[in-house]
Amino acid sequence: MKIIEHMYVDGAFVAPHGNERFELFNPATEVRIGEVRLGDADDARMAVAAAKLAFPAMRRTSPAERVAMLHALRDAVSARAEALREAMATEYGAPQSFLAFSVPHASRVFEVAAKTVADYAFTRQVGTAEVVMEPVGVAAAITPWNSNIGFICTKLATAIAAGTTIVIKPSEMSAIQTQTLLEALHQAGLPRGVLNVVNGYGHVVGAELSQNPDIAKITFTGSTTTGRTILRSAAETFKRVTLELGGKGPQILLDDADLDRAIPHILASAFRNSGQACIAGTRLLVPKRRYAEVNARLAEAVAALKVGPSADPTSDIGPMVSARQWERVQSYIRLGSQEGATLLVGGEGRPGGLNRGWFVRPTVFTNVTNDMRIAREEIFGPVLSVLPYDTEDEAIAIANTTDYGLQSYVLGTDVEHMRSIARQLEAGRVVINEAPADAQAPFGGFKHSGIGREFGPFGLEAFLEPKAIIG
Ligand code: NAD
Repeated sequence: MKIIEHMYVDGAFVAPHGNERFELFNPATEVRIGEVRLGDADDARMAVAAAKLAFPAMRRTSPAERVAMLHALRDAVSARAEALREAMATEYGAPQSFLAFSVPHASRVFEVAAKTVADYAFTRQVGTAEVVMEPVGVAAAITPWNSNIGFICTKLATAIAAGTTIVIKPSEMSAIQTQTLLEALHQAGLPRGVLNVVNGYGHVVGAELSQNPDIAKITFTGSTTTGRTILRSAAETFKRVTLELGGKGPQILLDDADLDRAIPHILASAFRNSGQACIAGTRLLVPKRRYAEVNARLAEAVAALKVGPSADPTSDIGPMVSARQWERVQSYIRLGSQEGATLLVGGEGRPGGLNRGWFVRPTVFTNVTNDMRIAREEIFGPVLSVLPYDTEDEAIAIANTTDYGLQSYVLGTDVEHMRSIARQLEAGRVVINEAPADAQAPFGGFKHSGIGREFGPFGLEAFLEPKAIIG
């Protein structure tokens, strides 16, 4: 049983003023594995004060000093990789495929940020003006549970790259992962007050950070509904905002696709991170001519996926993070049938042989139309909707008929043709044939999927203000 008593403020682990407790569970067994003491609004204000005090010195650091901090953080996180894997496996239940990506990713983001700083022109000439890119002011980050370690590291890395200080409120459901990460980050020896972390509820600690006048910048990853609330509060004090929100990514399968290659890509995109991924490609658009063939192949491939605990290296799909999330996914599976879609594979309940744990059956619906709620709303579980189309223009129209616009996918053979389709999609990223992500490329959403971008120079600039010095 892991009891987490402390928050991290001004370079030290300290007891919060708040005294409420939150229980932590292993989602694969439903066993209670820990408890975290939550901070309150006073704690948030104390963390903001520490970050504010540390800001002037951080602002004056040179790019070379920031690169040195980022390298120290990279090394500190990579030294604790095994402990981070263990925490993520136990508290979140991520399958090994996701752990193999996300743990190295957490240290890589510091490396990428260091490279971005080294290559970036913080001072440049524009016409007659000298333009200086200055840190925006004290930042606050609010993060979700589905990739807790990676989101904390990305937001911290960008703050440091920009020369600012930060207060982070991670998901209360990820406290063991946060604590393990904090023990690693502490080893990097950052100046006091540069990094502050307060565990707490969103409506308490998150709400205080969203309206606190000493916070100049909010970077948030989470649901579109919460993003809207944060945007409203942030408006009062004109905070700069980066919002990374939900998605309902289309995957357009083209007529020339080779199914031997495409089917594994489709499953990887739809069910990555057990379907608990904002970038999941959960609407598959298939040419009518190939609809029956594709559905037959999907039924076979999805039935062969293994659902199980993180500890089993052969598990493709892990549990949902909580009982609430399990119920939510079940309700969407019920809804799909009620809306008149055809259940191809999967369905309600746990997979055979698993009597405990928040496991769901990977599920595919066919004969889905884009007006059904299962095609419009983010489910955040392993549920794929398959929609037929006649022409590519129709496929593009269906793909773009959504409030979301985070990540889309095109699958086929002719790369130039796929690029021309990619250019017509309303999404922050379009991935062709499951190409590997580029760590410097901007990431973020069109429409209700968010505001702003993370990573590389676009991510850095979201933490900077240009100042023109003329004359
Ligand atoms: P959520 O919006 O419920 O919570 C996210 C964070 O916001 C948590 O730390 C929570 O405590 C906090 N919060 C809740 N209410 C708040 C309030 N009123 N004020 C301030 N903070 C508040 O999201 P979740 O369920 O933790 O995560 C799943 C969602 O995150 C999905 O919608 C998913 O698409 C999205 N997500 C987006 C990205 C992206 O990069 N675009 C990545 C991962 C997850």
